[in-house]
Amino acid sequence: MRKKIIAGNWKMNKTPSEAAVLASEIRNKISDAKCDVVVCPTAVCIPGVVSALEGSSISVGAQNVHFKESGAYTGELSSAMLKDAGTLYTIIGHSERRQYFGETDETVNLRTKAAVDGGLIPIVCVGESLSERENGIMPETVCRQTKLAFLNIQKDDAENIIIAYEPIWAIGTGKTATAQQADEVCGIIRNTIKELYGEDTAEKIRIQYGGSMNAGNAEELLSMPNIDGGLIGGASLKPDDFAAIIKAAD
Ligand code: PGA
Repeated sequence: MRKKIIAGNWKMNKTPSEAAVLASEIRNKISDAKCDVVVCPTAVCIPGVVSALEGSSISVGAQNVHFKESGAYTGELSSAMLKDAGTLYTIIGHSERRQYFGETDETVNLRTKAAVDGGLIPIVCVGESLSERENGIMPETVCRQTKLAFLNIQKDDAENIIIAYEPIWAIGTGKTATAQQADEVCGIIRNTIKELYGEDTAEKIRIQYGGSMNAGNAEELLSMPNIDGGLIGGASLKPDDFAAIIKAAD
């Protein structure tokens, strides 16, 4: 049985003081969560959120990580910096980064490798656009993204990586993939992992669904055999909704 994992992607929302308040509110509502819970604030909010969650079972994740260890890369953050600030996870290759910030399958792979080498657990995002789905190339798109993200990643490291399947057409749109659609693609991704690393790794690796998951649809999505959790955007900024999603995962 894979332990479910619910992660909140706060995106570019909340100032440091607001983020610390939100973290405390979430902490108060989910003291008895049985699944893994992660919140991913912006980098500048990480220290305050880490201290607001100290002693709780909620982990903190970053929204991105650079692939170089240190040096002349103005504006970037290394895995060592994030780790030292109390971060355990990092989102990598979110579709907004692919769309607006030039992220490619290659840089996603480099960041994934840097995160693993630096002791962070990557949450690697994959997912097709609406036109890719309509043109029938959804399977090859998610297979390609998955294969390239895991290039040069050893089997022992691969099984700890989290994959988030996020169809671009469902992010922030209020349009959720049906539970069957989401499960089908998570199954395709799991099969790709099986091709790369074998059945045991495919059975161990956790695959989240993301894209307009909310308190109303979480239970059905999370009951599907290939869906091991959620990457939650909008609803993760609302403590009651986030708590309800976590409850649905337990
Ligand atoms: P959403 O975002 O839940 O607001 O659709 C999900 C994500 O982008 O990770």
